[in-house]
Amino acid sequence: MALKDVKGIGPRALTLLSKMGITSLEDLVTHYPFRYDVLVRGNLQETQDEEHIIIDGKVESTPILMRFKAGLNKMNFRLVTASGIVGVSIFNRAFLKNQLLVGTGVTVIGKYDKKKNVITASEIKMETLSNKAKIEPVYHLTNGLSQKQMSTFINMALLMYGKEIPDYIPTSYQETYHFVNKRTALNILHNPPSQDKLKEAMIRLKYEELFAFMFKINYLRQVNKKKNSGIEREIPQEKIKQFIAKLPFELTSDQQIALQEILDDLQSSGRMNRLLQGDVGSGKTILSFLAMYANALCGYQSALMAPTEILATQHFHNMKSFFKGTPLTIELLTGSTPKREKQIIYHGLKDGTIDIVIGTHALIQEEVTYANLGLVITDEQHRFGVNQRANLENKGKKPDTLYMSATPIPRTYALTIYGDMDVSTIKMRPKGRKSIRTILKKNEEIKEVLSLMLEELKKGHQIYVIAPLIEESENSDLTTVCQLRDKMKLAFGAHFQIDIVHGKMRSEAKELIMQEFLQKKIQILISTTVIEVGVDVPNATMMVIFDANRFGLSTLHQLRGRVGRSDLASTCILISDSDTKRLAIMESCDDGFVISEEDFKLRGHGDLFGTKQSGDMTFKIADLRQDYKILLQAKKDSQAYLQSKETDQEQLKQALIASIQNA
Ligand code: ADP
Ligand code: MG
Repeated sequence: MALKDVKGIGPRALTLLSKMGITSLEDLVTHYPFRYDVLVRGNLQETQDEEHIIIDGKVESTPILMRFKAGLNKMNFRLVTASGIVGVSIFNRAFLKNQLLVGTGVTVIGKYDKKKNVITASEIKMETLSNKAKIEPVYHLTNGLSQKQMSTFINMALLMYGKEIPDYIPTSYQETYHFVNKRTALNILHNPPSQDKLKEAMIRLKYEELFAFMFKINYLRQVNKKKNSGIEREIPQEKIKQFIAKLPFELTSDQQIALQEILDDLQSSGRMNRLLQGDVGSGKTILSFLAMYANALCGYQSALMAPTEILATQHFHNMKSFFKGTPLTIELLTGSTPKREKQIIYHGLKDGTIDIVIGTHALIQEEVTYANLGLVITDEQHRFGVNQRANLENKGKKPDTLYMSATPIPRTYALTIYGDMDVSTIKMRPKGRKSIRTILKKNEEIKEVLSLMLEELKKGHQIYVIAPLIEESENSDLTTVCQLRDKMKLAFGAHFQIDIVHGKMRSEAKELIMQEFLQKKIQILISTTVIEVGVDVPNATMMVIFDANRFGLSTLHQLRGRVGRSDLASTCILISDSDTKRLAIMESCDDGFVISEEDFKLRGHGDLFGTKQSGDMTFKIADLRQDYKILLQAKKDSQAYLQSKETDQEQLKQALIASIQNA
């Protein structure tokens, strides 16, 4: 069974559907409506002149067709309805004439001219409203495909192959919850007979989606937990201790605990699959360095993957300086590494002379092979999709994996995306850190903002200025980086250096600017959110964010984490004329976890993961905010199911497991 076997789906439709990501029967029947329109039957008496009306009835007179110039046509007929006879006229539907036979039941949607007693129809459906109301599915489409066609394709697929669509709910749970079967549920979703039935079917499909998802997560966790699947090491703890003693700071107790958890994982024969989460600036990076150091001491290679070149480069320089005087060979590999240098690095990774490689996506290119990759670390892990993660992991045999994230994840999400992982959390900040004072300002208060900035500059400190856009665009009056550069130059240009960095710049250019900022050659750095993650410039003590209402709270929290990176007092100024209630949370709250929960409540997960959504978390029908209870139940059930020994369930289990491998 395949899409092309569905009656009515020809080569053209196949192409259009695949453009929408619909390439299998299952994709098609789970292409759920994104909304439903409720058509309520109107009444001629109660409808006012020029009002919109939906009414059904029987065709009473043969339609009279009139053709005009330029291919225009109009059709008139009379319709008998429950509330009287009405004239109907409709433009450009000559093709309906043969269907509109006298006595045919139809539904007419249009505008009612009360004096003439005529409806000018925008649409005629070849069916009557079965009850008082009809619930109509509305689908996302692509150019060249109509609602009607989509609906026809789906229903034909259900008719022909509905029984073969896999159902991931074990029969015992189907019975417990009195669920309808999969085919029936799909049928109801695409042709809802009533609101109640629709709701029931939806819950069933949501449960199924979450059940399958949680099953996979639980399964992966179980597989990962299996003994002897990872690398067993004997870590020379003394050497690590000596190294830590020489650091310019003392590790916080949270850091110490997390480090021990990581080292224990490295020692054990089980494979590490750990998330290290902690607020921006909590000191995760140094732990990743220590883990790679420990791994190198045991004779294995490590790879650290960062989401941007700026960040990879910074990690690289940091690590080099921390490990000066040790025999570690550390290299940087990014998209802009010159070709010849790349070849040398590839070589060094292959023959094992390189201990540690830090980089971006370049680390997962086909050409890269490792002699004995033992540890893979990804920074800001949510920015990479599952496939990218898997790719890097596959390069070694069974390398241990550590994910770092500064985006505290609301509980729901932790349960799901990280459900298969162990989690270490750093809650406290390094000693001496002052919390960041956050203040809200209106655009009209810009003078005060400028004078606060001047005070900071006079102390020799540096400032980040953030705008949502790079250049002006026609349909937006948002502040842009370029505008701000001009403004800032006007205000401060005589005494201070001002520059910009944004995502559209070449990476070497970005790198250069960031280096200059770090070296204090630039005092004011204006940027889009490219500096959101990771960058560490301790002398930067102020951040000014224009159009702050445009950002989610988590993003704002990430952004402001760029300041407050030393024992200097730091300030974050949020400029916005609207949305002040939401933004006020930032003034009073400094805990990334609390903020992410708030953000989640207010905006859903869309913002949490930035615009580069990894795709890990896209459900077709479930919505974690609304369906948390279903999630918890599905989690519990799928766990029990995974552990159950009933052999008649084996086939379904295998199907679920297979779907992980194909994902
Ligand atoms: P994160 O990666 O969690 O956002 P970083 O690892 O970049 O945070 O740490 C921010 C800064 O704090 C770095 O300059 C780092 O060297 C420093 N740092 C890390 N741990 C400590 C500590 N325990 N005490 C003082 N400074 C620390
Ligand atoms: Mg970091």
